Parts: sequence; C-alpha cells; structure tokens
Amino acid sequence: MDDVYKLYNSNSSPKVQLKEYFDEYLNVIGSTENVIPLKQNNSNLMTLMGVQLADEEMSMLASYCSIDNLTVEGEMPKFNDNRKLRKKETFDPQEPPDINLQTIQNLKKRLKQGNKQSFYKYQSEIFIHYDKDKEKGHRTVIPGQDILVFVRTYHPFAQRTKNLTKQCASTLRLNSIIAVLGSQTLADLRDKISCVSDYTISKECSEDLKNAIGPMAKDVYKSGFFFIEDTFYNDTRCPENIDYSKVIIEWTQRRPSLGPFKTAKMEECRIDSLLLRFGFPWVYKHQGGCEHLIVFSDARLINNDDSLHEFAYPQIVRLRPLSSKYCMICGAFIAQWITLDHERIPHNPCYFCNHCFKSYNYINGKKVGDFNAFAYPRNIEHTKGEI
Ligand SMILES: [Zn+2]
Ligand SMILES: [Zn+2]
Repeated sequence: MDDVYKLYNSNSSPKVQLKEYFDEYLNVIGSTENVIPLKQNNSNLMTLMGVQLADEEMSMLASYCSIDNLTVEGEMPKFNDNRKLRKKETFDPQEPPDINLQTIQNLKKRLKQGNKQSFYKYQSEIFIHYDKDKEKGHRTVIPGQDILVFVRTYHPFAQRTKNLTKQCASTLRLNSIIAVLGSQTLADLRDKISCVSDYTISKECSEDLKNAIGPMAKDVYKSGFFFIEDTFYNDTRCPENIDYSKVIIEWTQRRPSLGPFKTAKMEECRIDSLLLRFGFPWVYKHQGGCEHLIVFSDARLINNDDSLHEFAYPQIVRLRPLSSKYCMICGAFIAQWITLDHERIPHNPCYFCNHCFKSYNYINGKKVGDFNAFAYPRNIEHTKGEI
C-alpha cells in the first residue's frame, strides 16, 4: 500500500506505537510533576516556587509581575478583544497607529492587499469550549499518565479519476478535530464522527407527511470499518453487521503488489495500542460507500487544564462550520424537505422550507401534482414530531 500512497509520506511521521512511545517518555523524564501544568491557583504556584507567602504579599508579587508592566513609551496600544464567533483565536486588525515599526508597516501592507491575502490558520474553524465547572464527580483521567490523541476527520469524498492528487485536493474538506483518550477504542471514535449519511432517511413520504421521519440510516445500517496501516478494524458490535473489508481483501489477493492485510475488531482496539503514522491519511468507511479520510494529527499527555472525566471524551475540539441549505423558493429559511421528479419545479432535487413545501404542494392537506418527497437529512433526534 505504501507504494500506492507514497506521496503522502513526505508529510507524515515515522511509525509510532503510542503506548510504548509515552512509556519511554515517562521513563526518560522520571516524573511529570514539573512538566505537566498544575492548576493556576496560588497554593500550587507557591508549592512550585518553594515559598509560603501571605495573601497580601502574593497579590503584591502578582501586580509586580503582571504583563501590564511590560510596556515602553511609544508602544502600540493593546488590541481590544474583537474576536468574531467564526474566527476564534484570531483577531481582526484595527487601524494601526502611525509608528515606524517594521511589524506595523507589514501589517499596513497586508491590510491593503485585501482579505484574500490575510489568511489565518484557524480562520475557518470554530473552537468548541466546554464548561468544565459543570463536570462534577469523580475524576477518572489522570494528568501526566493518560494520553490524549487528536484526530482530524474529513467530509466524505468521491474518488473519480486516476489523478488522485488533484481530485482529492479539490474535494477534501475538514469536518472536525476529535480528541480521544488512549484508553478508549476505535469504536468510541467512530461514534463521535458525524456524517450526513448517518442521518439520511430514504423514505418517500409525500402521501404521508406525519410519518416522514423513520429510523435514521445509522440505526439501521451499523456496519463500518477503519483502515489504519495494514489492518481493517471492523465494527462487529452488532451481530448483523457486514464485514466490509472481506470483499476488499479478496480483491487485493488477486493483486500481488497490495497487501497482505489483517482484520481486527474496532471495539477491541484501544487507541494507544495503534502503530501508526501521524499526518498520514487513513480511511473510515460506513453506510456502504461513504468514505472519509481521517488523520491522526497529535498526541500528548493529559494535563490539569483538560477535562479530567472519561465521559467527556471523545470530544470535538474544533469543527469547520458548514453553510446551511436554504429553501429554493423563499431563500430565507433552511431546508426541511427535498423533492425529486417534481413536475411543477425545474430543479431536481429541490429544497423546501416547511412553509413553502406545504403551501406549494398541498391544498387542505391533499397532495397537488406528481413528485416524491423526503425529509431533509439532519440530526433530528431532538426535533422528532416538530416537522
Ligand atoms: Zn459518511
Ligand atoms: Zn421557503
């Protein structure tokens, strides 16, 4: 397989066995006490400094050491926090003052070039902040011992031509970045990956709108696998699940340049038992033909600033917002219905909001004209009965 996908090797790490790597790391540093950040409260700070100070002395020390004191005359004023919801961790530059600093001159130059040139790494991603104060009860994750692994998941892609690089580059879009514990399994990770195919209900309902919402695809078709290095990790939690990897392995057996491959159960595979390359794209496949790339991007020991409850993981730490599909009639509300083969609409498919759908297609609850209708796939667990 490496011969087929070797173009990705330039960006990926050597193979790492996560558990071994971190065990070795802990052996080298001896104790994580001085490496893993402790909570930023005064008692911990005093322990770290090896002193015992009264509250008054401590606050005086804090004001002496404040970063507000690190200013010089003629320095640029501090920027206000003008972050927008969609640009967390990035700041919109304000009108720069007239100061002869190279950085200010560069900023002015960049602002003149317009938005296209001002690119921030996380501009298109939303950071998800969880309220840690709400998490009460026994902490089950140990700082300095448990491993946190970050996985980038991408939206499904269709591989259309032989020119793999061009096609993938044009269609790959980040979905989310998920933090998962080393002690959790690939099945836990799978349950956190969100995909529109899982929410699909392919049930024609134009004659019976009240029963438009049936079981979602993820509740009916539960098969799936991860392909990492040379192993297919199948989801066998449900006895009816199909082994998607079987047909692929049979196909590769007729091609000596590929394989050999192994199979394993994803619910039995701990994340920290994986031997993998960071930065290399692996595959997650579900719903028959829905393929996603996943990339292991980072791993580190948990510290006190992280959530220390096992149930908080896997956790989506960043995600890329998707633009909503709007009603093609009014253009004002988001789509709740899709029609196919509609004899009075030029678009196929056509997206409708609830109001337009019912007012255009029904008179006194009776269907007008010929068309097929489906509920728009979305996470409808919380909206059952509201359509
Ligand atoms: Zn999918
Ligand atoms: Zn509408």
